[in-house]
Amino acid sequence: MRKEGLSPDSFTFPFLLKACARLLDSKLGIKLHGLVVKAGCESDAFVNTSLVSLYGKCGFIDNAFKVFDDIPEKNVAAWTAIISGYTGVGKCREAIDMFRRLLDMGLRPDSFSLVRVLAACTRIGDLRSGEWIDDYITKIGMVRNVFVATSLVDFYVKCGNMERACSVFDGMLEKDIVSWSSMIQGYASNGLPKEALDLFFKMLNEKSGIEPDGNTFVGLLCACTHAGLVDEGRQYFNSMERVFTLTPEIEHYGCMVDLLGRAGFLDEAHQLVKSMPMEANAIVWGALLGGCRLHRDTQLVEDIYSASHKWDDAAKIRSIMSERGIKKVPGYSWIEVDGVVHEFLVGDTSHPLSEKIYAKLGELVKGLKAEGYVPTTDYVLFDIEEEEKEHFIGCHSEKLAIAFGLISTAPNDKIRVVKNLRVCGDCHEAIKHISRFTGREIIVRDNNRFHCFNDGSCSCKDYW
Ligand code: ZN
Ligand code: ZN
Repeated sequence: MRKEGLSPDSFTFPFLLKACARLLDSKLGIKLHGLVVKAGCESDAFVNTSLVSLYGKCGFIDNAFKVFDDIPEKNVAAWTAIISGYTGVGKCREAIDMFRRLLDMGLRPDSFSLVRVLAACTRIGDLRSGEWIDDYITKIGMVRNVFVATSLVDFYVKCGNMERACSVFDGMLEKDIVSWSSMIQGYASNGLPKEALDLFFKMLNEKSGIEPDGNTFVGLLCACTHAGLVDEGRQYFNSMERVFTLTPEIEHYGCMVDLLGRAGFLDEAHQLVKSMPMEANAIVWGALLGGCRLHRDTQLVEDIYSASHKWDDAAKIRSIMSERGIKKVPGYSWIEVDGVVHEFLVGDTSHPLSEKIYAKLGELVKGLKAEGYVPTTDYVLFDIEEEEKEHFIGCHSEKLAIAFGLISTAPNDKIRVVKNLRVCGDCHEAIKHISRFTGREIIVRDNNRFHCFNDGSCSCKDYW
């Protein structure tokens, strides 16, 4: 079109920018932005909203905000684009703040902005903001929207409030497979396997024409693992292809290996790993090694190490990851005290109360030793893709957040911590002990599930 001497205008740009966003091509995006300015379209609301959305999707959130900030009359679409951008790059606080500002402007959010802001609340486990948004959604009747209601279900599931998740789910007039799967997975990950399986059969029996998908089976297999239902697990796994023409993905193999490994069927688990059509990843090997550790099968462990020699040391795994451009996400934990969110990194010393926090941590370590607890380093291999281990075993971000929680809340308060990565095996053991000798209920929501530590045990019953 340009060769023919025509230049794009404010009607063409939004489509071009959308196409570019789908390609995640930031370089082309910046070029197009230049053309926008050249064509004198930089004050057009549609063009700018597309630019915000494009920069947001490519992770160039500062550029996105700059364009957004310059839009004189921001409509809901523009606000949605910036909220999505912040949620997409994990700046969830900013996303929630933007949503508040949208409401302050007297605008009415649409389903997209609600879904995105709920995703932000879910990701950082911000119960308070999520509940407030729930009230708002209910008030304006948006709860009738299937996407919004499903996001709400997902939010409550991941915050461990199954009661509210259930009431939102039951109230839905229309449910799609995502709604059903969220609820099934929710029951499974909150340690309610029977409810998960019952709901699956209810879904099939409703004859609504909804067919299970891969996520539904992750929930089912996870439920079987929790309940130790090996035969049922095998049946569901086999039915994926035979009955529902679904191809098992790596996460389904991971669930099966976990189920078989925990139940002591180590050879079968090992065979399954060997028969997988794709290469096993750290999660699958981790599940198998976890089973070996549980059943003290050291011979198989050695077999696994020699058979999968490229996993033999952590450094190699790390180099594979960096070759593939997989960026390691730093571990963060959040804790809210009196309405203020405190954030901690691994080995963090930047908090104003840092000295007191480390003093408390020292006290906790003493308490742990007194209980005969020894830090476990054999988790190093399993969790290596998640978090740095060797230098920081004592001060993972969740331990820091808990130490801070202990010194800054009343003796009977529950301590609620949210972590962006999976909680490691060592921290999980340690927190169980800490909950006993401090007499505190400690709730940790990691990226995978919800752990409620009380008097020396965890609600996940070590299935996570
Ligand atoms: Zn840890
Ligand atoms: Zn747990």
